[in-house]
Amino acid sequence: MKKFLALILALTMVFALAACGTAPVETPDAGAPEADAPAGKLVMGTNAAFPPYEFKEGETIVGIDADIAAAIAAKLGMELEIKDMAFESLIPAVAGGSVDIVLAGMTVTDERKESVNFSESYATGIQSVIIAADSAIATIDDLTGKVIGVQTGTTGDIYCSGDYGEEAVKRYDNGALAVQALLNGQIDCVVIDNQPAQAFVAANEGLKILDTEYAVEDYAIAIAKEDTELLANVNAALAELKAEGKIDEIVSKYIKAE
Ligand code: GLN
Repeated sequence: MKKFLALILALTMVFALAACGTAPVETPDAGAPEADAPAGKLVMGTNAAFPPYEFKEGETIVGIDADIAAAIAAKLGMELEIKDMAFESLIPAVAGGSVDIVLAGMTVTDERKESVNFSESYATGIQSVIIAADSAIATIDDLTGKVIGVQTGTTGDIYCSGDYGEEAVKRYDNGALAVQALLNGQIDCVVIDNQPAQAFVAANEGLKILDTEYAVEDYAIAIAKEDTELLANVNAALAELKAEGKIDEIVSKYIKAE
């Protein structure tokens, strides 16, 4: 009997070890092209201070982009991991292979296309201007000579430095910090994408959005140039999610129609 028990124990351990061995401990794809079907971990880079696309609920990163990435990962049979970093680090991170995809309310631009590929677009963004509720700024032309807060490396940063000059622009690591500077009276306005602008205005007293569409843009997923198979798989998953109404469902979970 003792021997039998010992055998059972030994067998249990063998099985337990075997189970450990087959656990999903895949090394993250470091950007090297992979021939076989996708599996393992899908690492997403984002800047989680951009509500409602990405923001923190406690320690968890949630939002439209996090949900879309999770839905794509589920379709590809992969496990999603999200890495939070400065917006300006995202393109180098995906081009260098430390993340596989970037979803960050990221606008497709020709300059970024020189470093990465973009998926089909999944949303539209509009550059907006946040001002103090009692600001004298009434139109986009009134920004001349004003101090404009932007997030470093964003399209808002690029357009404003081009249109109003480098000296007019004050750069912040994220939108929340730029909005804080506006609330403190350190800058005259913040140029940022419309949805985060609305979220920041809703969360803070004394701010409003200028009635203008400074620029209209497409958001898409950035993927390393050499990851063409992943790009094809992500586009296929996105097309299915769009057809299933899943993207609209995710968007309306975070953006309530007025
Ligand atoms: N859409 C803007 C850009 O791509 C801002 C994105 C962001 O700040 N997360 O530059």
